[in-house]
Amino acid sequence: MFRPGTDESNVQMSDVLCDFCHRPWAEDVALIEGHRGCMICGHCLEVGYLELVVHAAPGPAEYTCTMCREDDRDRAALDRAGEPGWASPAHPESVICSRCVQQASAALEKDPDHEWTRPAE
Ligand SMILES: [Zn+2]
Ligand SMILES: [Zn+2]
Repeated sequence: MFRPGTDESNVQMSDVLCDFCHRPWAEDVALIEGHRGCMICGHCLEVGYLELVVHAAPGPAEYTCTMCREDDRDRAALDRAGEPGWASPAHPESVICSRCVQQASAALEKDPDHEWTRPAE
């Protein structure tokens, strides 16, 4: 997401925020971009990965993924009915689905600018 009031013709790093913790982008903050400028940082991705993949937390009953915009109906149509998501504790309107957690984790692990690895089981 962009900080409210961002000049879209002159976007600065500090205008780009993680949708899940609202931390601004910085040299030491990895951000993975989703649909339409939605972002998740490496810190939130680590927590989401731990909750969803390592602890198998159920997450919210119904949700629309902030990163891919798919809702329960979309997931059911794709044979992914009931796939859990992780809601940010600080901003519970931001939820990421399990597939986006896996995709973002794979992308961030290949990012040469950041030493990010999936948390161990
Ligand atoms: Zn974050
Ligand atoms: Zn998703």
